[in-house]
Amino acid sequence: MKVIVFNTKSYDKKFLTDANKDFGHELTFLDVHLNADTCKLASGFEVVCAFVNDHLTKEILTLLAQNGVRLIALRCAGFNNVDLQTAADLKITVVRVPAYAPHGVAEHAVALMLILNRKIHRAHNRVHESNFSLDGLLGFEIYKKTVGIIGTGKIGALVARIMKGFGANVLAYDSMQNKECVDMNVEYVTLEEIYHRSDIITLHIPLTKDTHHIISDHALAQMKKGVMIINTSRGGLIDTKSVIGGLKTGKIGFLGLDVYEEEGDLFFEDLSGKIIHDDVFTRLLAFPNVIMTGHQAFFTKEALMNIAETTLSNITAFERGQVPVENAVTLDLLRKK
Ligand code: NAD
Repeated sequence: MKVIVFNTKSYDKKFLTDANKDFGHELTFLDVHLNADTCKLASGFEVVCAFVNDHLTKEILTLLAQNGVRLIALRCAGFNNVDLQTAADLKITVVRVPAYAPHGVAEHAVALMLILNRKIHRAHNRVHESNFSLDGLLGFEIYKKTVGIIGTGKIGALVARIMKGFGANVLAYDSMQNKECVDMNVEYVTLEEIYHRSDIITLHIPLTKDTHHIISDHALAQMKKGVMIINTSRGGLIDTKSVIGGLKTGKIGFLGLDVYEEEGDLFFEDLSGKIIHDDVFTRLLAFPNVIMTGHQAFFTKEALMNIAETTLSNITAFERGQVPVENAVTLDLLRKK
């Protein structure tokens, strides 16, 4: 099929081109984001391949449909950036890659925890300046601490397994219990109990209207003083202004983020010579107990291979009228959340 790939980086092009040797689609790569101005470039293409920060709003989907687009192939798991009602109304099929990097994301969440609890980011800088003082680097062990996992799907369950390996007491909150977690003696509790009892809280639920700003002033008020919060899921789960307040008072002792609610204007680009206009973001970076990465939790060789292969096989399946149920993004999926 004729596929236009938006928001392409060199690594996307390499992995998609390599994988396409087995599929034979006609791929056109663009480095621009998909937006109201660029969506006219999709004219003549049946398939748009998009990524996390390409916003498929009602306006854009309508323009794409007018241009003949019939399939949106997301090369990511999250689909909060797609107006699914409009896609359904316009008879545009939406597919995704539901599980391309669960191990990579789980390992990255744990990496953020370990950097924070042992202050590795600060230690690294000191050693490079021949400052070998340990003052201010006192850490804590995860062993026997209580880790609260919000969302025990594919990624959350892997984090639970790793945390069990550390000898932590693992609590979980999810609208559906995962048998794998139950079998490893993860204790399912209410959200309130997660907040009250956890030393570390890690987020692995999708961003929906129910989960938007789940970490708010109200949630923070229920947490232990000095709690560590980790978010590798979606930025919108956290009310950033509330966590800045929590960091200032010491309520939050550590914050590890791979995602940020306004990341669309920042992440995946080299802005090193530019002025950042987002004052909330720059305030976050000024805290010594905040560590941030730019949405790279998924970014492993294994994941890029999976993303490329699944995206192209989703397109082939659509061409044959056989989209796999587990990869289709439908309104039903949204209702289940
Ligand atoms: P998943 O669908 O396997 O698991 C999500 C879990 O959340 C499910 O168990 C579901 O029951 C639960 N859930 C959903 N809505 C809920 C609600 N309102 N209340 C309670 N529980 C709810 O997803 P996954 O593969 O584990 O991925 C989790 C998230 O990680 C994705 O939604 C995506 O946003 C994010 N992600 C980030 C990266 C990255 O690079 N940072 C990469 C991949 C995925």
